[in-house]
Amino acid sequence: MSTSKKRARVDDIDSDNEPAVQAIPPTRSSDFWFSDGSVVLEAESTRFRVHSSMLALHSTVFKGMLQHLKIGKAHHKMIDGCPFIPLDDSEEEVTYMLSALYEKNPRPRPAPFSLFAALLRLGIKYDVKCLRNEAIDILESALPTTLEKYQKLNTKTNGIIDYSSNVLMDVIDLVTETSVLSCLPAAYLILSEDIDSIMYGATREDDTAVVLDEGAKNAIICGRNKLLKDAPFKAFSWVKGSGSACGQKRACMAALHDAMEDLWRNQVQQLTCFETFKKSLLSRFCATCQAEYGKTHRDEQRKMWNDLPTYFGWTSWKDLPNIHSSK
Ligand SMILES: [Zn+2]
Repeated sequence: MSTSKKRARVDDIDSDNEPAVQAIPPTRSSDFWFSDGSVVLEAESTRFRVHSSMLALHSTVFKGMLQHLKIGKAHHKMIDGCPFIPLDDSEEEVTYMLSALYEKNPRPRPAPFSLFAALLRLGIKYDVKCLRNEAIDILESALPTTLEKYQKLNTKTNGIIDYSSNVLMDVIDLVTETSVLSCLPAAYLILSEDIDSIMYGATREDDTAVVLDEGAKNAIICGRNKLLKDAPFKAFSWVKGSGSACGQKRACMAALHDAMEDLWRNQVQQLTCFETFKKSLLSRFCATCQAEYGKTHRDEQRKMWNDLPTYFGWTSWKDLPNIHSSK
């Protein structure tokens, strides 16, 4: 985010109680230095002069810190006459947090990983419900627990988040660390299409490497294998045909043959069992077969989705709560 990179100027006037030597002189945030601010936060080498009432309103943790500072006022470092709170978070994270609290910047779509990771981590750390809920909303929409929502995603065009493998691998770490566990099956499922990254890791935009831990790696590979084995007998079980009241047996047999060939070519390589039925596949069947095969496909697909966590080693969706979710 551009705001985090903007630096206003070296903070040379805040000399009260400054250490004699500092490797990087602190600078003022260009976006969050309010002349009527009543508390100074510092993250890395950037300082933010903001309103203590705003922090206390949203965060029980900041509220407690500020009350503590009030009591022991004489012993605390002051900057520009304001209590000073050094934070061990990154400048970027604190900038995201303040942008959200002051509603300063519109949220970009797809949401960058650094944004929702900061909102979630700091939302939990400082008990800021609106940040936490916003991050969880992004994650739950991007990696849903229902088949209907999953089918509406377009993971190729990165609608809600960036679905690149390197980002998904970071997301898997983030939701595991912060217990937003319901996102894991969809994340595993989407990532399962990229075996190379699962096996050998991927590269982030900043050229750093990201690798999955062994547990996640094994779960995804085994899960993908089981899904591929089950799909012909479940979601695609209709290709064996039926003895229903078919109105055009010869044409429907030919259509079945083509459908089988299409599925054989695509399904063997990729996990297509949760995709919506291709209209072109169904349209060649008579109305009776269309209805029957479509229903079988949807029913079996739903059963497989309900069992999705079990493919990856959990017992059920209930095994994967989001402990910070407000819902
Ligand atoms: Zn038919």
